[in-house]
Amino acid sequence: MFVCENCNYTFSYKESLPFSWKTRIGYPCPNCKETHYYTADSRRKSMYITLGAVVLIIFLNAIDLPFVTIFAIGAIMIAFLILLSPFTMKITRKEERLW
Ligand SMILES: [Zn+2]
Repeated sequence: MFVCENCNYTFSYKESLPFSWKTRIGYPCPNCKETHYYTADSRRKSMYITLGAVVLIIFLNAIDLPFVTIFAIGAIMIAFLILLSPFTMKITRKEERLW
């Protein structure tokens, strides 16, 4: 789970989730209000997973699976990515450059 670099507050699971859709603008620590961001490594990791998912969806499309099945697989992958993000990602106080 995420830990605030400023006050060592441990984010709850629910407090950690908004990071996945606020990666660029950051998200404040609920305790000290210091804004935190995903580390560049974490953003890169999520980018590679997304690229992998796109390649998988293109592959599934090529083997003629019904669109509904491909859509369901894509939705499940996005849900997993968001729901597991508090365990797989890291945060930092300073917004790091991606490259
Ligand atoms: Zn804090």
